Amino acid sequence: MKPWLLALLACPECAGELAARADQTEAGEIETGLLRCACGAEFPVRGGIPRFARGPARPEARSTVERFGYQWRAFRDRLPGYREAFLDWMAPLGEADLRGGVVLDAGCGGGRFTDVAASLGARMVVGADLSESVEAAQELVRHRANAGIVQADLLRLPFRQPFDLVFTIGVLHHLPDGEEGFTALVRHLRPGGRVHAWVYGREGNEWLLRFVDPVRKRLTSRLPPAVLRVAALALAAPLHLALRVLYRRRSGARLPYGAYLSWLARFPFPHTQQVVFDHLSAPIAHYYPRDEFRGWFEKARLEDIVVSARNANSWRGTARVPGG
Ligand SMILES: [Zn+2]
Repeated sequence: MKPWLLALLACPECAGELAARADQTEAGEIETGLLRCACGAEFPVRGGIPRFARGPARPEARSTVERFGYQWRAFRDRLPGYREAFLDWMAPLGEADLRGGVVLDAGCGGGRFTDVAASLGARMVVGADLSESVEAAQELVRHRANAGIVQADLLRLPFRQPFDLVFTIGVLHHLPDGEEGFTALVRHLRPGGRVHAWVYGREGNEWLLRFVDPVRKRLTSRLPPAVLRVAALALAAPLHLALRVLYRRRSGARLPYGAYLSWLARFPFPHTQQVVFDHLSAPIAHYYPRDEFRGWFEKARLEDIVVSARNANSWRGTARVPGG
């Protein structure tokens, strides 16, 4: 656990200050220890990660968390092109919006975006996730002095309001209630801070909703993840061939799902397999209409709201907390 992390943390039960006890340290970081609050709450530090996780009670939500934990440990490849992909997910925000800032990657999975954000000059980046994916994330970013990982529920995050920027990419649509998650994140921004979210769109996903989603709900999200991983390999092979043959050309963008699939065609095979797994694995996945997504920002009374489409099948939204 990076020493600077303690100043950002607060007890998720009472918002009180936490005191750290180090049982084992490594290069000045707490490897094993305990965080204690005056209210009596205690949270262990294991493997350099402060652990605040208290999993969701609903079986569907718990299974979603567990399956993402599996996914991000199974698919660890550090992919070329992820820096550009991250900036595309973050648009209209850019490198300048990260530089020097205190940043939260909410639902960091295997930590790919935490890693990129730290490399782009953020002062401190915290990656938070409820699942066991934090192990993979910690391994990926532990060499970076300005990145730290926390295991915690997005609905009860253990932070004060330190963040200049909170981003959440591909996470809120897997919560039982995406808006509840969004509202919970906004609470940890400083006045004038920015929130940035990306979710699946209802618009542009009619084919997926009609043919793939019923299969996910009834079958594939119930398969053991290791079995689904093999099935995803079998399904990804013909898909990857089609991406390479049809969608890598300039004319690919005009084919069905062109914007999305020509983007997918840029990545190597392990990414295609992971995307297939991703779409079939989660018991909870919502597809939000643009107006509903924009409504989250309006109801949170945010300013300078910008909502834009990404790959014609998803929504990016950015806004600012008043003041600051
Ligand atoms: Zn407390």
